[in-house]
Amino acid sequence: MDPGYSLVTFRSRVVNNPVSLTFLHINQLSPGNAMIRLVKLFTAVLFTLASTVTLPAAGTATHVVVVVWDGMRPDFVTLATTPTLCNLAKRGVTFRNHHAAYPSMTEVNGTALATGAYPGESGIIANREFRPAFNASKRVGTEELAVVREGDEITGGHYLNSPTVAEILRSHGMRTAIAGAKGVALLHDRAARSEASEGVNLYAGSTLPESSANVITGLLGQFPAADWTGTNRDLWTRRALTGPLWEQDVPAFSLLWLSEPDHSQHETGPGSPTSLAAIKHADQNLAQVLAALDQKGLRDTTDVIVVSDHGFSTIDQNVDVAAVLTAQGFHAGREFPRGGARGGDVMVVGNGGTVLLYVAGHDQTLIAKVVHCLQTQTFCGVLFTREPVEGAFRLHDARIDSPAAPDIVLAMHWKADESTNGAPGLVYSDYSQYGPGCGMHGSLSPFDMHNACIAAGPDFRKGAQDDLPSGNIDIAPTVLWLLGVVPEHKPSGRVLREALTQPGNSPPPPCETRRLEASFRSIDSTWHQYLECSEINGVLYFDQGNGVLVPRQDIGGN
Ligand SMILES: [Zn+2]
Repeated sequence: MDPGYSLVTFRSRVVNNPVSLTFLHINQLSPGNAMIRLVKLFTAVLFTLASTVTLPAAGTATHVVVVVWDGMRPDFVTLATTPTLCNLAKRGVTFRNHHAAYPSMTEVNGTALATGAYPGESGIIANREFRPAFNASKRVGTEELAVVREGDEITGGHYLNSPTVAEILRSHGMRTAIAGAKGVALLHDRAARSEASEGVNLYAGSTLPESSANVITGLLGQFPAADWTGTNRDLWTRRALTGPLWEQDVPAFSLLWLSEPDHSQHETGPGSPTSLAAIKHADQNLAQVLAALDQKGLRDTTDVIVVSDHGFSTIDQNVDVAAVLTAQGFHAGREFPRGGARGGDVMVVGNGGTVLLYVAGHDQTLIAKVVHCLQTQTFCGVLFTREPVEGAFRLHDARIDSPAAPDIVLAMHWKADESTNGAPGLVYSDYSQYGPGCGMHGSLSPFDMHNACIAAGPDFRKGAQDDLPSGNIDIAPTVLWLLGVVPEHKPSGRVLREALTQPGNSPPPPCETRRLEASFRSIDSTWHQYLECSEINGVLYFDQGNGVLVPRQDIGGN
């Protein structure tokens, strides 16, 4: 056991106090939608002075390393499967109430981790979106190089509306290294650059600057082809980081993005033997990262944060939302006609556990009809709309109101039942290559929205468990604080001060949880949906949301 080891637990003790803050938060959460009721308001003001405590950056670490395990659920952190991560937790802080940004997808959370911004602010609200400026008839992948380049060209360098950690650190003269086995790593540090740059980005085998690739492939061979699991790509990418990218010296900030266990969980479901083996492989890669820091004598001066982008669920049923709408008489499809959308067209862009719907001409009458049709479907979880529609929340309520956001966002229905692999959390999935029993994410299920986060190093408390809500949007501001940089652009997230060993050790901030509800009465039934979130100092963490259609008891001779 480490000297100074102590168990510290912060609990967000919930005290029922429905009086003090009601109007403030109704205005903040649901402007202009009379159908939304704020039914519960709990507040837990532990230390009222907390919000007035401001401490200057920075931590004592000279280096920060963030390791992302794509799709890692917190309940799969076990001594048997992840001994290295468990040992790291013993030396550091386990964030036991950590949240993905909604929608719980890779590109969304990659951007949230990189910028500390809500998806609505950064501009990336899904892996696949319809961006008519790039393609007038089809969806695009938000992490694709061509889309990123064109996006920056159109917007004068603001494809992402918020700066990333790597960009900010380099503007302060620090070196950075990004290494990702998936394309999402591009979003962390996307600018074209010369060899003289202080930052390298290795994303899915490609590099910025391009010339860096020669050294890496000379040592490691070509980036491996995709196979049944992503472990070979993860191994190659990790070796590139701890090898050539760290050879001269370790940059102030490094990020390693492993594609597992996401890949295996999609193919075989969370909790399967293949998925557990992939988690073990991620743990071995973490062990090699820590060993490299040890060898370089940097372990004691490096803060290491292990985090996942989102949780995971098992597919209960696959549905084709476009086909369902078509069967109900709508002109719905997966793309618009080549000549552009015609009146009445609806484009459905599936993202697994969340579906984006774009209505031609933003026809509000048609939008409401589509929403009310979806409310009659068993696969429907939570609906969000840009403009008010009865029984739906606003896009802003989930902080997904980006400039390019669709007219309707549908989070798919979920339940907490166990899969055949014994993993709780089943979800409907739209139009996926994966079938029932395979894995999916993207929804507002708590199994998708809660993800793993463990941090250790000179600036983190030892053997502590943080039960306060935290989220991926907090990682960027915390990393910047650790490295002594105050960002000009205010992030959405917060510095996770309660987990830090800072002088003075500020008290835990106040925490509140609340629940939004909306309903819509049709002729024979009533739609109900809810969204639960936690708040600390104005930072929102979405816990879960779901919906159900209830037959009306007051009609039809029942
Ligand atoms: Zn992912």
